[in-house]
Amino acid sequence: MMNSLTFVQNLPQTPWQTELQHAVRDPATLLKQLDLPTSLLTTVYNPARFALRVPRGYVARMRKADPNDPLLRQVLPLVTEQDKVAGFTLDPVGDQQSEKVTGLLHKYQGRVLLITTGACAVHCRYCFRQHFAYADAHPLREPAVWEYLQAHTDIKEVILSGGDPLTLTDKRLAEFVQRLASVSHIQRLRIHSRLPIVLPERITDDLLTLLTTSRLQSLLVVHTNHPNELDLHVIDALHRLNRAGVTLLNQTVLLKGVNDTAETLVQLSEQLFHAKVMPYYLNVLDRAQGTAHFEISLETAQGLLESLRCQLSGYLVPKLVREVAGAPYKVPVY
Ligand SMILES: *Cc1c(COP(=O)(O)O)cnc(C)c1O
Ligand code: SF4
Repeated sequence: MMNSLTFVQNLPQTPWQTELQHAVRDPATLLKQLDLPTSLLTTVYNPARFALRVPRGYVARMRKADPNDPLLRQVLPLVTEQDKVAGFTLDPVGDQQSEKVTGLLHKYQGRVLLITTGACAVHCRYCFRQHFAYADAHPLREPAVWEYLQAHTDIKEVILSGGDPLTLTDKRLAEFVQRLASVSHIQRLRIHSRLPIVLPERITDDLLTLLTTSRLQSLLVVHTNHPNELDLHVIDALHRLNRAGVTLLNQTVLLKGVNDTAETLVQLSEQLFHAKVMPYYLNVLDRAQGTAHFEISLETAQGLLESLRCQLSGYLVPKLVREVAGAPYKVPVY
């Protein structure tokens, strides 16, 4: 379960932290802002854990009075989430097995993933991490994590993940960068974040400096599912990251009713490239409990990929992959 954002409350706030705090947290408020009838509340619920959370700027990109808006569908808790569906489990990707020491996942050769926080700016209803109880830890202050990184000299790349690592303050992030840069075999810092998309205010000049002034090469993997997510503020934030020298990649999750048409995915790739972001992964949904209503069949996914290949420059076609517990890489779906 994601943690609350209490850590921002006692500090002087920057505009992005204020936005983070003012995220919409109540389904009735969200429906009202979108001119949607309250009768929809019979299909929506207010969960005690992994509650609705969506930044105001993201709400502004939703179409009014459209209950099927693709951005709304990603964040609105539906009663159907509570159905127990066979095959949809609490840890579909086997992450718990690859946790070598608390907060460090070593699943694939040459790179490790650090859980830096449990907090996110947005709660995506399809997320497989919604069931994990993360401590709000600082992995590099754990001697065991630190020792693991130093002992495994084949680790070239460290991925900051969570939760969402860009919900951390610049001070915290700077400490991560400094400490990782002091381990001589680590060459790359990769950040997995949805904040540039849902809260572009986060991309401050201080953040750009912190990402580009260490000896590490920086990559940022953003997470975009629909072209409507890329408004002018987001594109501007991504352009600034690109100009600062951060390599930008995108991952998308295939979601029924959100982006399961070739037309949407073609537009998404084109828009991402316009924003200087390379399509990286198109992920088949991980079968986490409560997400069955987002699933599309593998055959449909393969058909969509074929359409993308027919319509796009080769470099704009993302790799269609699914996560198989125990596999040594994200497994391609052809
Ligand atoms: C997805 C993932 C990675 C990164 O995999 P790439 O194929 O390099 O993008 C690393 N560690 C874990 C635990 C992951 O889930
Ligand atoms: S998909 Fe990413 S941003 Fe969304 S809830 Fe999951 S970890 Fe957070």
